[in-house]
Amino acid sequence: MKRTPLSEFAGRTFDVMVVGAGVSGASAAQHLAAAGFAVFLADAEDYGSGASSRSSRLMHFGLRYLDRGEPVINYLKNPLWFIKQCRRARNTMRHRAEVVRTTPERLKPFTMYIPVFKDDHFRPWQMSAALRLINALGGSELPVDWSRVAAGDWSSTPLLGQLRDQDRLKGAFSLVEYQYDWPERMVIDCVNDARRMGAVCRNHTRVTGLANQGPEKWSILLCDALNPSDQVEINARQVLNMAGAWIDRVLQTANRPVSRQIAGMKGAHIVFRLPERFRGHGVAHFARNGYPIYCLPWRDLHFVGPTETEFSGDPAHVRVTREDAAYLLSEANHFLPGLDIKAEDILFCWAGVRPNHYDPGYKYSGKKNFLPEYRDHGTEGLPNLMSVPGVPLMLHRFVGRRIAREVARRITPSGPAQTVSYGTRRFEQDTNSPPVNASYPEIRLSHLEDMAREEQPACLADLLFRRAGLGWTGDMSRASARRAAEAVAAIAGWDEAAIEAQLQAFDRHVLEHFLAPAQEEPTSEDRPATSRANGTVVDAGATAPARPVGDDREGQEMGRRAQVRDERGRGGRTRPSDHGDA
Ligand SMILES: Cc1cc2nc3c(=O)[nH]c(=O)nc-3n(C[C@H](O)[C@H](O)[C@H](O)COP(=O)(O)OP(=O)(O)OC[C@H]3O[C@@H](n4cnc5c(N)ncnc54)[C@H](O)[C@@H]3O)c2cc1C
Repeated sequence: MKRTPLSEFAGRTFDVMVVGAGVSGASAAQHLAAAGFAVFLADAEDYGSGASSRSSRLMHFGLRYLDRGEPVINYLKNPLWFIKQCRRARNTMRHRAEVVRTTPERLKPFTMYIPVFKDDHFRPWQMSAALRLINALGGSELPVDWSRVAAGDWSSTPLLGQLRDQDRLKGAFSLVEYQYDWPERMVIDCVNDARRMGAVCRNHTRVTGLANQGPEKWSILLCDALNPSDQVEINARQVLNMAGAWIDRVLQTANRPVSRQIAGMKGAHIVFRLPERFRGHGVAHFARNGYPIYCLPWRDLHFVGPTETEFSGDPAHVRVTREDAAYLLSEANHFLPGLDIKAEDILFCWAGVRPNHYDPGYKYSGKKNFLPEYRDHGTEGLPNLMSVPGVPLMLHRFVGRRIAREVARRITPSGPAQTVSYGTRRFEQDTNSPPVNASYPEIRLSHLEDMAREEQPACLADLLFRRAGLGWTGDMSRASARRAAEAVAAIAGWDEAAIEAQLQAFDRHVLEHFLAPAQEEPTSEDRPATSRANGTVVDAGATAPARPVGDDREGQEMGRRAQVRDERGRGGRTRPSDHGDA
């Protein structure tokens, strides 16, 4: 886990600088490296730790593209819109099939139900027609496996029995959907492959300045977020701004007036444990504000979300607030009253900011970027700078290939083309090595060692969340964190004091971001200046003055949250139905 000092790259020139290693930037770096470009990929925090790790983890197949929430007759009045949406659905279906075919180990199929109520804006026949159309558009490789469930016939579909207004239900649709088994791991896969092909990839490395010195001449200021005195300038012929919800902030570092690109949309989720009979089953419908809402299975847990609220703060500060949690509880209990979910059932929660494309003419001034739209800032006096707002997760290879083609139209690669590999890394199967977490036996201590050696985690949170996915277990790996830290200590060079600091930083990370709804989002002023990596005072955002831990409002808020957690105990409410009652 030793990092190459940033100073080693000082003054070097790369073909392409990719700012931001979410799923889009990482895929772009991978496809650019394959096209022969010399790439530098930097992320201010860990790879995949932005929106890519905060999604609802659904592999969409395009059903929503066909729903305008309007009578069908309106579609006929707007045939161009309809054709565009069909193209999007076809594109999504094709990429979905490719991701499932090439990386099935990153996905989990589950059963999703979509109920149809008498007062819904769509009829069962419309749903059937939409699903048939999507399958016709998507080709034969991976059609959506769906069927209709008659109202009241809930014997094999227990979750539907928990729905509201049973007397108003016209029936439901049952679909086999795919869920990412933690999408940030796909980001790591892309980064691994980009590095194999020679790309320089650095996490915890913030781009703090962009200076254009003419066509194909960019100078980029980089700062090591874990060691802020390590700052260097490198050069690139083309810059890709793929910083998700931070895109406008990155543009500001170029010190030139440029058009706004992003309208951030916050989404929050709450997680709880349902009785075993609901495992592997989810439901999708609309919240009372008209937005889609899901109750989805996640390993042995379930979650409800997302909220949809405009977000204009720093996306690094996004939290699930108590207001978000109350809203989600209220919607969950309205939609699925039979589940009777209570605040004390919430095991953890998460929120993220969707980097919607800014469009002042659109509702909430932002729209989702289903086709990788990009902005070439050459028209604004900044040649060879492009901003690329993120796309849904299943389109990450689409965006990577498309952006690599666009870059190839602007500059020539300095190296030979290589072959991209979508295969995922296989870990050594050391069956003598014990599982890190008994409830998730797939990941063994030997796997953590392998990840620590090969995949650049800088701290325990990088390792357990983005590399191993163990942060997302019921206790967020807090019980096994020490074992994990000790397993990689020799590789990381951690002595006992460093292990302690890592454990504290990990605990704080979990409390700060996930463990219990916050009173409100912290401002830069409130934010503790504590590095996730080593517990010392370092602020990656360079926004907060250094203050001792605990001497801050957010620190007090976290103390309150820790108390709530400790009072509640780690397992959440024990529900009578956990023991098999109907
Ligand atoms: C609540 C929610 C639910 C969603 N649900 C789904 C879903 O179910 N299915 C689906 O397909 N999609 C879903 N999405 C959308 C999907 O997650 C995003 O579109 C996608 O992850 C965006 O990826 P990205 O790479 O553009 O951005 P990000 O993943 O946010 O990556 C941007 C990166 O840029 C880095 N960065 C910022 N500033 C700098 C800087 N100065 N220097 C260097 N790096 C910097 C950040 O640290 C970050 O890692 C959801 C999104 C949200 C928020």
